[in-house]
Amino acid sequence: AKRVVIKVGTSTLVYPDGAINLRAIDQLAFVISSMRHHHREVVLVSSGAIGVGLNYMGLKQRPKAIPDQQAIAAIGQAELLSIYKERFAIYEQKIGQLLLTRDIFVYPKSHQNVLNTFEALLAQDVVPIVNENDTVAVDELDHETKFGDNDQLSAIVATNIDADLLIMLSDIDGFYDGNPHTDAKAKLLPHIATVDAQTYALAGGSGSRFGTGGMVTKLKAAERMLKADGQMILANGADPAVIFQILAGEPVGTLFG
Ligand code: ADP
Repeated sequence: AKRVVIKVGTSTLVYPDGAINLRAIDQLAFVISSMRHHHREVVLVSSGAIGVGLNYMGLKQRPKAIPDQQAIAAIGQAELLSIYKERFAIYEQKIGQLLLTRDIFVYPKSHQNVLNTFEALLAQDVVPIVNENDTVAVDELDHETKFGDNDQLSAIVATNIDADLLIMLSDIDGFYDGNPHTDAKAKLLPHIATVDAQTYALAGGSGSRFGTGGMVTKLKAAERMLKADGQMILANGADPAVIFQILAGEPVGTLFG
C-alpha cells in the first residue's frame, strides 16, 4: 500500500473522562512521520473536535443546541490542529487542514478542487489532516451536505484519492460477531471478504461517550472500500504503533478485503 488513509476515532484521542490523550497523538505523529520516510503517502482523517472543544472549554457534556455544538466543534478543531501541529513538528513533518462536506464530492468543480489540493499537499510531503466541516454540515439527516460521520468520510476520501488501504483506528481490537461490550462471548473476526446484511446484523452502536459512529458506519466504510477494490483494516488505536504491524503485514484486527 503506497497511499494510505488513517482514520482515528474520538475514543483514540479523548479519554472517557474527557482528558486529551496526548500520548496517542504523539504516537500518531511519530508513526505517520516515519511512514512518510518510507515513501508512503498518508492522509489522516481525525475526529475529536467536539471532545477536544469540551475539554478546552471545561465542559463535561455536549451542549444541547446545535449552534452551541458547532461552536464547540469550531473551538475544538482549532485546538486539535494546534496539538497535531506541535507534535508533528517534533518530527519535522508539515501538516495541512482540509474541512470537507459531502456536497463537495457531488459537484464536479469542487470535487476536482479537493482532489487537486490533496495531490498538491502529498506532492509537497505535507500530511493532510481531514475532518468534516461542522460549521457547514449540521443535521445528521441532511445527506446533501453531511457525511454523517468520519468513518464514511474517510472511505469517501480514500476511494477518491485512490488509496489502496484505509486503516480505521477505534477503541476496539477489531470487528466481532457481537458487541463485545455487551456480549462477553463475542469473538474477533480476523477477515471479512464481503460486507452484506449478515455482517450488518452483527454490528451495534457506539459504546463510547463521545464516539458517534459505532460499527455500522465502519461497515459502510468497509463496503465502500471493497467496492473500489481497496482494503480496510479495523484495529485498536490505543497504541497507534499498531500501524507498523499492519504495514509489516502482520495479522492485526479485522481485515476487510
Ligand atoms: P470511534 O469513536 O473509534 O469511532 P465508536 O464508539 O463509534 O468508535 O465505535 C466502536 C464501538 O462499536 C466499540 O467500542 C463497540 O462498543 C461497538 N460495537 C458494536 N458492535 C460491535 C461489533 N460487532 N464489533 C466490535 N465493536 C462493536
